[in-house]
Formats: sequence, structure tokens, C-alpha cells
Amino acid sequence: MTAHDIAPGVVRLPLAPRASINAFLLGDVLVDAGTRHDGKKLLRALRGREVRSHALTHVHPDHQGATHAVCSALGLPLAVAEGEAAAMEAGEQAGSASPTVPARFMRAVAGGPGHPVARTLREGDEVGGFTVVRTPGHSPDHVAYWRESDRVLIAGDALRNMSYATLGPGFALPYDGFNFDQDAVVASARRLVELRPRVAAFGHGAPMDGDAFARAAERLL
Ligand SMILES: [Zn+2]
Ligand SMILES: [Zn+2]
Repeated sequence: MTAHDIAPGVVRLPLAPRASINAFLLGDVLVDAGTRHDGKKLLRALRGREVRSHALTHVHPDHQGATHAVCSALGLPLAVAEGEAAAMEAGEQAGSASPTVPARFMRAVAGGPGHPVARTLREGDEVGGFTVVRTPGHSPDHVAYWRESDRVLIAGDALRNMSYATLGPGFALPYDGFNFDQDAVVASARRLVELRPRVAAFGHGAPMDGDAFARAAERLL
């Protein structure tokens, strides 16, 4: 895996080919942890880097999968949005929070084990030099991370830049079938677009610069 610096102190850790699943380092905070199969890969990628805590954008199996493994191996305290802390502590079936996804499918993409949450996150909290922005909809209490000083946005799954058809670039709202509340998805996406980021990064897909993001957002919303 090649780590990519996307802004000062901000590293993207691709966990699957074509940037189809990403984790991030914001300063010394690991944000997201891929699937339950990604623990060893993440630990290798973090070797030699200073990591002091772990935070999530949301508790879905492709983001919290290796959370327990990484927190246990490195002794990291875990920070999760207030409204998803219970799902993280329960683990495994975390993704079943979506009412529209069949239980059979959710078992196939089961999340990682539960892990104790040391800190619950709310709007405006600070994580790795970024500010927590509540962006519910894709999941009940999804959060994005925003650094106003140089306008860097870690959008998580509130937006994506990956086509499920090609795995190539494709700026879009998160896929309907996985969303918890579609009206809230649109409102949260608008909120992130209005921040006018200079760099926008996603849970799925490659980062975008501000101009490309603004043009794509105009078409989308
Ligand atoms: Zn998700
Ligand atoms: Zn995801």
C-alpha cells in the first residue's frame, strides 16, 4: 500500500485497489479502519508513524471492520459519534442499522468485533486538528471532519467519488440502498458542498481538488 499525502499532516491510506476503500491519518489520529480483513494491512501502513488515537466517520463494516484489531494492537483510545457509539460497542452487525438492506447481505459483509468507545463525538469537537461536522443520513450519526484553516474536508461516506459500476471516479451521493435516511443524506451533502473545500477526500474513491469538487457538486445537487 502506498500512503498518499493529501494536505499537510493528512495522509490517505488506501486499503483496496483504485482507492475503493480509504482510511486517513489526521495528524496522529487514524480515521476509519476498513473491513475486518484489513487489520494487518493497516498496522503495516502505520508502522513508523505516530498514532495516538482512532476515530470513525461512521459505524459501517467497511469503516469499523479492523477498529478492534488496530485499537487493541496499538492501545489506541476510540472516538465515535454519540449516536453510533452503542453500535460500535456491539460490533459485528453494526451495518444492519440501515432498514433497507437485507439481513442476508449484511451478514455477508459483517463488521468487525465491538470495541469500547473512549470518547463520544459531537458537532464542533476537535479531532486531529479537524472539526467534527455532523452529517447524518448515510448512517444515523455520520460525521465528517473539516479543517477550516486550509479547507480540507474528510467527507467519509456523506459523499463518494467512486462509481460502483466501474470502480473508477464518479462523484455521487452514497448509494441509496445503504442509506439510513435519504432526505438527511441530501441535506448533509449540501452542507459539505457549502463549506467549499480546497481538498475533498472520501471513504470511497480518490480525493478531489476544490474546482473539480465544486463543478461536480453543481451537477449533482
Ligand atoms: Zn458507509
Ligand atoms: Zn463505506
